[in-house]
Amino acid sequence: MTRELDDDHGGRNLSHSVFACESCDTVILSRNDHADRLRCCDESLSEVATPDVATPTLETVSSEMFGLPKRGFDVSLRTSEIGAATVAQVADVLGNDRSVVTRYLNQLVDVGVLMKTRRVRKQGGDVNVYYPIPPTKMRRETILGCYAWAGMAADLLDEMNREHATLEAHSEHGTEKLAVMFW
Ligand SMILES: [Zn+2]
Repeated sequence: MTRELDDDHGGRNLSHSVFACESCDTVILSRNDHADRLRCCDESLSEVATPDVATPTLETVSSEMFGLPKRGFDVSLRTSEIGAATVAQVADVLGNDRSVVTRYLNQLVDVGVLMKTRRVRKQGGDVNVYYPIPPTKMRRETILGCYAWAGMAADLLDEMNREHATLEAHSEHGTEKLAVMFW
């Protein structure tokens, strides 16, 4: 089954689509509003119909792409709202255990959507303070991460399909054996 070009994908209009060159095997994932600028082999690229894949949820995006449970995204949003927050402040707002919040905050720093600095406290000692990267940078970083993830997923599929082709070429019984191995 194929997603038709006029499909609004579960009631939402997609702002990203897949475009392909008619002369070579170049395929590009791009925002639709930039599509007229896409060129390859001296031609503009056309949007192509794509297989009917599952629609991702924010939960799957969060866990599969960034290795964070959805709760991790909540921590990110709350931290952005507070502006610059300590573990204790975020934990108080979310009602979460501090060790869990600390783990999510540090993961968000690793992913690149939060920054961490140490601040000296009035009462002595110092404390980690987490603050969000600017919204425009956040938007760009998450989209770049998404595209990088999609690229690596494409590599995995490419690798599987190449092995599939090699096995098929070497298999005496062709598809019968492959059906057992892959499905
Ligand atoms: Zn081309």
